[in-house]
Amino acid sequence: MAVIVQKYGGSSVADAEAIKRVAKRITEAKRAGDDVVVVVSAMGDTTDELIDLANQVSPRPPEREMDILLTAGERISMSLLAMAIANLGFKAQSFTGQQAGVITDDSHGRARIVAVKADRIHQALADGNVAIVAGFQGVNASNDVTTLGRGGSDTTAVAMAAAIGADVCEIYTDVDGVFTADPRIVPTAKKISRISYEEMLDMAASGAKVLNLRCVEYGRRHGVDIHVRSSFSAHNGTLVTDRPLPEGEGQMMEHPLIAGVAHDRTEAKVTVVGVPDVPGTAARIFEVVAATGVNIDMIVQNVSAAQTGLTDISFTLPADDGQKAITALTDHEQEIGYASLQYDDQIGKLSLIGAGMKSHPGVSARLFGALRDAGINIEMISTSEIRVSVITRADQLDDAVRAVHTAFDLDSTEGEAVVYGGTGR
Ligand code: ADP
Ligand code: ASP
Ligand code: MG
Repeated sequence: MAVIVQKYGGSSVADAEAIKRVAKRITEAKRAGDDVVVVVSAMGDTTDELIDLANQVSPRPPEREMDILLTAGERISMSLLAMAIANLGFKAQSFTGQQAGVITDDSHGRARIVAVKADRIHQALADGNVAIVAGFQGVNASNDVTTLGRGGSDTTAVAMAAAIGADVCEIYTDVDGVFTADPRIVPTAKKISRISYEEMLDMAASGAKVLNLRCVEYGRRHGVDIHVRSSFSAHNGTLVTDRPLPEGEGQMMEHPLIAGVAHDRTEAKVTVVGVPDVPGTAARIFEVVAATGVNIDMIVQNVSAAQTGLTDISFTLPADDGQKAITALTDHEQEIGYASLQYDDQIGKLSLIGAGMKSHPGVSARLFGALRDAGINIEMISTSEIRVSVITRADQLDDAVRAVHTAFDLDSTEGEAVVYGGTGR
């Protein structure tokens, strides 16, 4: 008998029919004799709809109330799923994050899990139930509910798997696993059968939302293997693990140079134009932005086009935080002494990820060549040991991803990747 954690994303439980289908899948595991803990996301685009609703009643909803609102989405799906399972003749109990013992820090909207006290889950399993846990939520030390940030149900699943010592943590979604690029943009993307935490971390951090970044971090720290697969098919998916392949299986296979191409449309670019080219200016700009709690991604400094002795500093950040950063910089205009601010949210980021880059020269040259041949201008560049990222115009991003995918010979010859559901939102 195994202990299994299964997580179903919003697209897998989008409506009543989908919930019934998932319930059936869960009872099959239960019938095979396994203990099953299910983590579930809100139905379809419920979370987006709740956020829209909040923004209609208030331009800046209080964070505490926002979290109470958003956790309602997962309460709906968890209880409906428990009902659907009961209707198939199996015992099931649903639990909010609080009831499931998911303890977090105080950061509303992006809380981190600090402990999982899974007593009630153990008890529910011992009593023969399928335990269903609301994803994406927990409770802080003051007993206020918190949420873990968008896509956070993946993290709940991995944290639950670690807490109860599960044999497997399965993340069920609307594609057959992690692909070499988003199959919605690159139909010829290939499914990756096995990927290291290191590469998956960079894919997730670079926008491949098929797995949430923190869930991969958590999995690596606690040694939880993650199996990403489709809830719409029976195919094996992608195993995220650092374990070596079992004896005899593909030992001869060389590790591929590139794991995949990720893209991100959620960033914006701020340019601080005409700042004095003297020591300390950059420090001041980024101190001002850091004080707002906003994370900066790429940074470029150029000699100002306008005048000598001045420089332009551009950086990227999540577009959702753009207003915060602009307001803070405007408040410090005199002190920093810049000429003007530019804000551009029509950018896209493409990242090429692969541990093989460490030992292969020429990867950047090939990437830039592919973009040149596709007529795509590069606005910013950043690199790490296993990643090269570039900023392009937003409306050229899809073409850029396809061109780079082809240039690195990642296209599949075995037919198109299937996208079973979801809106890609
Ligand atoms: P869920 O609702 O199950 O959490 P998400 O929408 O969060 O699903 O994540 C699945 C989606 O991630 C896919 O439909 C796909 O469009 C997108 N995606 C982005 N990059 C990749 C990738 N490299 N491999 C697979 N899917 C990806
Ligand atoms: N419902 C939340 C979201 O849409 C959490 C999740 O789906 O993982 O972000
Ligand atoms: Mg997700």
